Amino acid sequence: MTQTRKRVLVVEDEPDLRRTLDKVLTVAGFAVLLAADGRTGLRAVHAEKPDALVLDIGLPGLDGWQVLARVRDLSDVPVLLLTAHGAEAEKVRGLRAGADDYLTKPYGNAELVARVQALLRRGAASIPTPEVYDDGHVRLDPNARTVLVGGTDVRLSPTEFRLLAVLARNSGQVLTPAQLLDRVWGDPTGIGPERVKFAVLRLRRRLGWADPVSSPIQSVRGIGYRYRPSA
Ligand code: CA
Repeated sequence: MTQTRKRVLVVEDEPDLRRTLDKVLTVAGFAVLLAADGRTGLRAVHAEKPDALVLDIGLPGLDGWQVLARVRDLSDVPVLLLTAHGAEAEKVRGLRAGADDYLTKPYGNAELVARVQALLRRGAASIPTPEVYDDGHVRLDPNARTVLVGGTDVRLSPTEFRLLAVLARNSGQVLTPAQLLDRVWGDPTGIGPERVKFAVLRLRRRLGWADPVSSPIQSVRGIGYRYRPSA
């Protein structure tokens, strides 16, 4: 066999659903890892480094939101959230928290497999240049993957790092969501502009640039986003 099977971690507390997910994803050609609660799932993300994560929101102990937040602190593993029926509002919350896609229960098995396959097709774009970027305020070192803002070390996820790198290297220029999806995510389709919007919000929060008026990362209404170091 020349091709390694992609590894999908399923975090689901209901035994019947977990069994079904295991079966359906295995038949679809994935190597399936299973966890029955959030804490076990989180440990498995770190230990096994799966290619994708199917994460139930309603979990005992550490719930899906807490797992997602901790996963996003250091990993860009694609995440498909499973939300309870009638909880459509959770879609926005999920995207805001860094999920890549979501499905509402009950879902069809074919639909689930299609979503997981789509997640795995979205490869992260590589950082275009290894050169250090430094404008006196922000310093990005792609080799060391370090970010200094005003001299302070900031920890970013790989996607956040690429987003900041792409914005900073195009300083002063407005980039559209489509351009950012292409250059940061390597994926011009995906969930689209919403995904960019929430990633920008998260990045601003991390950098302490949450105030939209003074933030060096500006939203240009109807067009896109621009980094301006002097703003
Ligand atoms: Ca559940």
